[in-house]
Amino acid sequence: MTTSVTIDLKPTAHPLSDAERAARMTNPGFGRVFTEHMVTIRWSAGRGWYDAQLTPYASLEIDPANMTLHYAQSIFEGLKAYRHADGSVVTFRPYENARRFQASARRLAMPELPEDLFVAAVDALVKQDHAWVPGEEEQSLYLRPFMFATEVGLGVRPSNEFLFMVIASPAGAYFAGGVKPVSVWLSKEYVRAAPGGTGAAKCAGNYAASLVAQAQAAEQGCDQVVWLDANERRWIEEMGGMNLYFVQGSGKDARILTPSLTGSLLPGITRDSLLRLAADRGYATEERKISVEDWQAGNADGSISEVFACGTAAVITPVGSVKSTDASWQVGDGGAGPVTLELRKALLDIQTGGAADTHGWLHKI
Ligand code: PMP
Repeated sequence: MTTSVTIDLKPTAHPLSDAERAARMTNPGFGRVFTEHMVTIRWSAGRGWYDAQLTPYASLEIDPANMTLHYAQSIFEGLKAYRHADGSVVTFRPYENARRFQASARRLAMPELPEDLFVAAVDALVKQDHAWVPGEEEQSLYLRPFMFATEVGLGVRPSNEFLFMVIASPAGAYFAGGVKPVSVWLSKEYVRAAPGGTGAAKCAGNYAASLVAQAQAAEQGCDQVVWLDANERRWIEEMGGMNLYFVQGSGKDARILTPSLTGSLLPGITRDSLLRLAADRGYATEERKISVEDWQAGNADGSISEVFACGTAAVITPVGSVKSTDASWQVGDGGAGPVTLELRKALLDIQTGGAADTHGWLHKI
């Protein structure tokens, strides 16, 4: 779908000096430092999409009866811009994020931003703030498109007004340990998503509901939660912000498995990319249901050799150990396995320009 909305560019009259920007970009961590601009696009039931602007990054004023604060019509996306060795800047599969954003909007009874306007908004911000795209290894500019209700009122119904925004944040490694394996807690008390619920949407409420289980994982000495299905608490779904992969067997005969998209887990873009990259490398791949028993038994007899999590923010992170109320085990030798590292390198090489973009996944800014 094409749109006639154009983004009005109103950049800051007081840009930071190179030295000031460099100071803010030093050890940025994740999601703490923001660039100098943002994009805003309004929607109303009467006008559709209008008033698209790129302006200096600034606070918003919010009425106490803003509908989002009460009823959580709020969705978001996450993608990254990478700087290549020749200085050019690319994003990775942004149209996939645009489509997932539309799917999230449909589930939350929100308007669907046209794909090209989503990508144009991201492009405009990256172009304006291109100096904020880091060039060092494992660093990138994390982009956060989001949309929320802006109508004021306490009636429970879809808002008639929304604000779409994009902000950007220079990012180092997501987990401080780099490729250090994470320990995971299998949550049997709490569930993230149920059939018919919002699990496949990237809506703010999913993350609010996950925090108490994440705190429980930390109490158990684990880094991350692994979510199980709502009905049986038996089938592996995903991690807090990443999808999961299991490596069965080893060497070139390894099979790469990932839980099927049941509607209650997020269809990750990294997950989809890895299915293709694994197949390119001659691995058999399969999307299917994987139970906790399968995992534990496969681990015990050695048939499951590696497990890793994947997502935009942390790319690929090995899972080193598992704990639940009933059992705990180490995955393989507890380290990063060869298939995990091979796929991690394959993906990062494409994203950062070290390998040919054979799937046409890079979008030049
Ligand atoms: N699952 C959840 C719950 C997430 O928040 C994310 C991050 N968007 C993912 C999986 C991974 O998705 P992607 O590869 O598109 O970043």
